[in-house]
Order: sequence, then C-alpha cells, then structure tokens
Amino acid sequence: MKDDTAQRDDLIVGDGLVVSLAYSLRLDDGEEIDTAAGDDPLVYLHGAQNIIPGLERALAGLKIGDARSVTVSPDDAYGEMDPDAFELVPYDAFPGDLELEEGMGLRMVESGTGRQMEAYISELRDDGALLDLNHPLAGETLHFNVEVVGIRRATSEEVAHGHAHSEGHTH
Ligand code: ZN
Repeated sequence: MKDDTAQRDDLIVGDGLVVSLAYSLRLDDGEEIDTAAGDDPLVYLHGAQNIIPGLERALAGLKIGDARSVTVSPDDAYGEMDPDAFELVPYDAFPGDLELEEGMGLRMVESGTGRQMEAYISELRDDGALLDLNHPLAGETLHFNVEVVGIRRATSEEVAHGHAHSEGHTH
C-alpha cells in the first residue's frame, strides 16, 4: 500500500501526523534564540516526543494556518537546572592544543556508554575545568510564537522510526 502523505487542510494536529511549524523562540528577557521561517519550517512527528512536551501539548488540535503564543515552563521544556550536573575535569584530560574558555561548548563521549553529550565550561579553576552538563536551556521559561504551516499523515516508516523524514531523505 502506498502511503498517502500529501498536505491536508482537513487534518488537525494529533498523534501520527507530521507537522510543519514556523516559530520564533524567546527567553524571559525577550532575547530571540531560535527561529524557523514558513518556507523552512521545523518538521516533526507529533506524539513521538520529537519536541518538548509543553509545546507538543499546546499544538494538539490546531490546523494549518493556526497561530499561537505558547509559554512553556522549565518542567515542560528542558527541566530545572540540576546543581549536581557539574563535573570537575583535570586539564590533562583535554587535548593539549585545545584552548579552554569559560562558556565554551564541548562535545564529549561518555566513557562506558559511548553516549554523546554536550557540556559547557562553567568555570576554569586551578585544578581543572568545571563542566556544566545541564542542557543550555535548563531552568528557562520558553516563549514561542508558532504557526502551523503544514500537516500530513506520517509514512509507516516514519512511525516506525519515531521521527519525520524530510523530502527525499530517508534513513
Ligand atoms: Zn528515520
């Protein structure tokens, strides 16, 4: 059976649908930190935890052309700041040619699991670099302006993978 994945005006956002979103994202202080235009939208599979829970909930039931302002608390976004998610790493654990700076982002591979994680240098101390393993948006209340610009049914492959495939790209 061929999957019918044409954009459909009669669909409303719900589980198993691929949704295209134009949005802007601001923090409490008004700083815009992310944006997607209508002609280059964020495309995600609804109901598959592709996006933060607070935003996913707010989008359910909308149709193409609907726009909303959505405020999402940290609990429904990237969580509160975890004061235990800091780690002091001795300087000899870093490559010698790497110039460390406070605020710098690092991609690290967790020994044992091989899981990739992002960390930020919170402080350069005498005995090593203090890494902050929290998500950069932990503790932030997020203010979205969103507009639904597309809705279509997901392919069976997308449902199996748990994410949307962009046009002409599958894996
Ligand atoms: Zn896939």
